[in-house]
Amino acid sequence: MTVPSYFARDYADARRKFLAAAKIAGLKVTSFENPAKGPAGERLFTDVARVGSPTAKRVVLINSATHGVEGFCGSGCLVGWLRAGAWKGLPRGVAMVLVHAINPHGFAWLRRVTEDNVDLNRNFQDFGAPLPENAAYGELHPVILSEMWDDAADRRRREVFDAFRARHGAMELQRAISGGQYRHADGVFYGGARPTWSNQAFRAILAKFLPAARHVAFIDLHTGLGPYGYGELICHALLGTPEWAELESWYGEG
Ligand SMILES: [Zn+2]
Repeated sequence: MTVPSYFARDYADARRKFLAAAKIAGLKVTSFENPAKGPAGERLFTDVARVGSPTAKRVVLINSATHGVEGFCGSGCLVGWLRAGAWKGLPRGVAMVLVHAINPHGFAWLRRVTEDNVDLNRNFQDFGAPLPENAAYGELHPVILSEMWDDAADRRRREVFDAFRARHGAMELQRAISGGQYRHADGVFYGGARPTWSNQAFRAILAKFLPAARHVAFIDLHTGLGPYGYGELICHALLGTPEWAELESWYGEG
């Protein structure tokens, strides 16, 4: 198979390729069905396969489509890894868990969010405790989500953004918009009011596939940043720590 053939036309195509690749590798696939349907009325699933010793304490967990539409890249990576036979070289005592489309609804509908407009990356919160506040987002929300999408609304949005940027700086504008918010369920970068389906599915996957794991490397494949075909390590919480240096030694630069 050639590399382009690992990548899919749409979610249904991606799922077919992943199931076929898992079958050829002799892997059992466990499927979690999403309550919603795709644009053609198709059923939606998160599919999971585990490679390597069932008792391995060291596990590499690879996740895809956290931001639905970004699943094209993650799916292609998982399919390619299986079809190229790379899994045959897995060291003893190491297992890999492949999660195909943790947000199948977003993947199928070409959206970043889940079926309930939740940015899954901002949904892993303790919903029993007060949620993070983002007052600046509330200030910008009316122009981000205009009643009308016309030139006047566009001008108004630019004015409000420019004024905000002049007062607080470009970085703060970016943080206000994309940092996550928990008050506007119809807004952008909405983190949700409860663990959404994909969050619950992810926790079920951890319980079922990694019960014996002691050391886990978790790779969540996203796309959209940086030059074409370039891999960037994003783990801001660890920047400047010894763990960051270790991560760089594992993955290399780019
Ligand atoms: Zn993403």
